[in-house]
Amino acid sequence: MTFDELGLSEKVLKSVEASGYTKPTPIQAQAIPHVLKRRDVLGIAQTGTGKTASFTLPMLSMLEKGRARARMPRTLILEPTRELAAQVAENFKKYGIYHKLNVALLIGGVSFVEQNKILDRGADVLIATPGRLLDHFERGRLLMNGVEILVIDEADRMLDMGFVPDIERIVKLVPFTRQTLFFSATMPKEIETIAAKFLQNPVSVAVAAAASTSDTITQRAVSAPSKDYEKRQVLRSLLEGAEGLKNAIIFCNRKVEVANIYRSLQRHGYSVGALHGDMDQKSRTETLAGFKNNDIQLLVASDVAARGLDIPDVSHVFNFDVPVNAEDYVHRIGRTGRAGRKGSSFTIVTPKDKKGFDAIEKLIDQKIKWQGDDVEFSTKGKHGKKPVAEKAASKTSTDKTSTDRPANNNTPEKAAQSPAPQPSRSQNDRPPRRGRGRDNQVDLILTDESHPFGGEEHIPAFMRAK
Ligand code: AMP
Repeated sequence: MTFDELGLSEKVLKSVEASGYTKPTPIQAQAIPHVLKRRDVLGIAQTGTGKTASFTLPMLSMLEKGRARARMPRTLILEPTRELAAQVAENFKKYGIYHKLNVALLIGGVSFVEQNKILDRGADVLIATPGRLLDHFERGRLLMNGVEILVIDEADRMLDMGFVPDIERIVKLVPFTRQTLFFSATMPKEIETIAAKFLQNPVSVAVAAAASTSDTITQRAVSAPSKDYEKRQVLRSLLEGAEGLKNAIIFCNRKVEVANIYRSLQRHGYSVGALHGDMDQKSRTETLAGFKNNDIQLLVASDVAARGLDIPDVSHVFNFDVPVNAEDYVHRIGRTGRAGRKGSSFTIVTPKDKKGFDAIEKLIDQKIKWQGDDVEFSTKGKHGKKPVAEKAASKTSTDKTSTDRPANNNTPEKAAQSPAPQPSRSQNDRPPRRGRGRDNQVDLILTDESHPFGGEEHIPAFMRAK
C-alpha cells in the first residue's frame, strides 16, 4: 500500500513526500479512505501508531474546498491535554505546507492576546481542550454550527480526566450532520457507550492491543521502603547503575512529588526538568523542548502531562510510584522502546503497592522480573526481610545533602537552571471531575508562530516489522 492509493489530494501527497514518509502506517491505510468518503470512524489506536496523520491528512484534503467564516470553525479537534493539542497543531503545520489554512489552537494556560483576531479571521481547523473551548463559547467568541468534522481524540483519557460531560455538551453544539472521527487507545464500557452515542454507522479500525507492552522494553521491578526520601535514594542508585542511560522520564503519581523529585535531583547535580499539569504553558513547552533536544537529560513527569507525547528515543523510564491505574503503566513504559529501539523501565515498588502491582501484572499478563530481592508485600508495620533497595539506600548519604553527586558518567555537569515548578491546589494531577474554568487564561495561537514541538522524525515500531 502506498500513499497514492488512499485518495489524498495532490497537495497532501506532496507534503507527505516532503516529510519523508514512504508508506502509510496500518491505521492510516485503514482509516484514510473512509474519512475521505465522509464516513464516521471509530479508531482504536494509541500514539506512536501514526494515528494523528490518519485524521490530519484526509482533513487537509477535504478542507481544500471551501472557506472559513468569522468565528465559525469548519472543523474541531478535541484533545485532553495542551501538549497533545499542540502536537496536532504541529501536524497540520507539517502536512499543510502547501495549504493556506488557518489553524488555531485553543488551550488554557497562555495569554488572551491573539484570540479575538484569530477567531474573527475564521479557523479552518480549531484544536482545543474541552474546558477551554466551552469557556470560549460561553463568552460568545465562537459559533459551533459551522463544524463539518469533529475529531474526538484520546477518548479514554478524556474519560479519565472527567471531560466526558464537557464533550457531551460540545457534541450537542455542533451540527448533527457533521462527520465524527473518534479515537481511543482502549475501549472500556463507558467509551463504547459514548462512541455509540456520538457516531453514526461508523467504520471501526483498530491497531495493536492497548494492554500490550513492547518486547523491546526490558521491564524490572525494584523494591524500596515506603518513605519518599528513601525512594528517592533508591531512584538515585538506579540512575547511577542504569546501563546505557541516555535520557529518562521519571513518572510520579502526584504533582507535588514531581516538584519534590525535580528539586532533589537538581540538588544532586542532575540535568533535570519537570512536567505537570499545573505548570504554566511557557515552562511546559520550554521543558519539553529542552528534553527533546537533549539539553535536559531527565524529565520528571505526571501522567496527565506526559500522556501521548511523541518523544522519540527515550532510553529509560522510571516509575517512582506504581501507577494508580494499571493502564498508565503501559503508557508510561511505552515512552521507551519506541520505533523498534531497545528501552528499559524500572518500577519502584514499596510494601504498600501490592494492589497496584498485581493489577499491572494482570493487565499485561506477565510477571515483571525483580532486580534484586522482590519486595515483601505486607500489612502495616510488618515488613519482614529488609528489601535490597533499602540496603542500597542506606549506603548513600541522605537526600538532604548536596554532596553525594552521582558517579554516573552520563550525568551532565550542570543542573538545569529553571526554577522549581510549584505544585498547586490538589495533589492529584487530574483536573476536577466537574466544572470548568480551571485556568483563567485562554489563548489562541496560530500555527505559523514558532513552535517548540515536533521536528524530529522517527520510524514507529510497526514500520520496521516486516
Ligand atoms: P502519532 O501516533 O500520530 O503520534 O505518530 C507517531 C510518529 O510516527 C510521529 O513521529 C509521526 O511523525 C510518525 N509517522 C506518522 N506517520 C508515519 C508514516 N507513514 N511513516 C513513518 N512515520 C510516520
